[in-house]
Amino acid sequence: MNTLFWFRRDLRLFSNEALIEALNNGAKQAIFFICEKQWQQHNAAPIQIDLLKRRINYLSEQLARYSIALYVIEAPYFEDCEKALLSFCDKHHIKHIIANKEYELNEVNRDAKILAQCDDKDITFTLYEGDVIAPVGSVKNQSNEMYKVFTPFKKQWLKQYQDTHFSLTPWPLEEQPSDNSTKELKSDGCSEKWPVDEESLATIVDNFICDKMSLYDDQRDIPSIKGTSGLSPYLALGIISPKQLLVNIQSRYPDILTTSKNKTFTWVNELIWREFYRHLLSEYPKLSRGENFNEKYNAVKWRKNDAEFKAWCEGKTGYPLVDAAMRQLVQTGWMHNRLRMVVASFLTKHLLIDWREGEQFFMQHLIDGDLASNNGGWQWAASTGCDAQPYFRVFNPITQSERFDPDGKFIRKYLPELENVPDKHIHFPHIYLASIGADKHCYWPAIVDHKAARERAIAAFKV
Ligand code: FAD
Repeated sequence: MNTLFWFRRDLRLFSNEALIEALNNGAKQAIFFICEKQWQQHNAAPIQIDLLKRRINYLSEQLARYSIALYVIEAPYFEDCEKALLSFCDKHHIKHIIANKEYELNEVNRDAKILAQCDDKDITFTLYEGDVIAPVGSVKNQSNEMYKVFTPFKKQWLKQYQDTHFSLTPWPLEEQPSDNSTKELKSDGCSEKWPVDEESLATIVDNFICDKMSLYDDQRDIPSIKGTSGLSPYLALGIISPKQLLVNIQSRYPDILTTSKNKTFTWVNELIWREFYRHLLSEYPKLSRGENFNEKYNAVKWRKNDAEFKAWCEGKTGYPLVDAAMRQLVQTGWMHNRLRMVVASFLTKHLLIDWREGEQFFMQHLIDGDLASNNGGWQWAASTGCDAQPYFRVFNPITQSERFDPDGKFIRKYLPELENVPDKHIHFPHIYLASIGADKHCYWPAIVDHKAARERAIAAFKV
């Protein structure tokens, strides 16, 4: 029976059990669809698409070493990829398609349609769950429902896996080079700072797990130091799998899943947050449709204010930490987690602008843009989400700045106009700048007053 492997956001070879299963079934062909129009509709950032294309080029070369042909086919929308997939199967007499599941609604609908057509044509279509450790729907409470609070979800997750020592299925093929590699996809190089080859990725992962993971709990909130892994772009595209990370972690910390109170566990906790948001997205299709998780907040009257939204996007709010963070996003395609929380809170609470506007802007710029985590993060910050922060908790962007960027190192990196402002004024430099008679155009006036904006937000949510 001819088997085809369909790559989606699982762009990896060695820790890809679905791919290994396909190869064990004799697959000699793999396929990937370039769905530019669909990706645009999903607001995928150009930098993420560039990373994806570079990785596809790399995969194609690697697969050719094992005599596997990767067919890269343009199919602007998902409907086109349905047609292209079935005609490929006809042409190559494919009787079994293997892929990894995706959890977003359009992807789920696409797969359901393909499954129906495969049934008609007597083709088997098998989906694996390589993007999560716990398959979606497998971590439930005693009433067999999805948890709505993270901590009990995590406890149950840990209960299910605490005795598991994770391992990877061995790669089944010997090298058998062929000239199968496909035409290179054109990259504009904007994601060049993020390597895509296995050797570099292994070094990044090993360095983080050996040297940084134990310090993560202390360093993860300081944006001026590299205290987090920076692996999100790879996890978002499935270039690295969460299982592969756990195998690596357990080789160094065999008891990691039973020592959740240790600081070393903090990083694993984040991987479980990632799972939590994926399980939620799968359980609640309304999240893919952009609806509030918590419907009682449907009554919140968001402000429509294009000028203020633009100021936020461009890093011109007059709050240095917010502005530096937004410039980090636009200039690099990535933003530190602490800052994502600060800017999302600022947009939704201080400016009272709909979280969906911020969510979309993030997707359009993030190299790690990912519907489940992005939606989860935005709805958490906006207080509309599942296990979100309470609506009356409004981050103060000045105290956040004093706490997490005390010497203004991060701010100065992205706001060179504030380079000479002394540390004690860097978090809100307006009075200082006026006192030295600085040109009033040297930095933006504060777009809102913190206290008044906080009161306005709380009042709007109370209603
Ligand atoms: P690390 O701190 O090293 O964490 C390791 C991995 O755990 C990350 O790579 C990520 O896969 C996962 N992770 C960490 N924190 C979270 C979290 N809060 N929720 C879910 N998974 C997490 N993450 C994305 O991958 N894509 C997004 O589009 C995204 N949008 C966000 C939007 C907002 C408003 C907020 C508050 C958070 C968002 N996050 C998103 C989560 C988090 O900010 C990033 O995963 C993290 O900053 C990535 O950096 P890192 O790889 O160094 O993370």
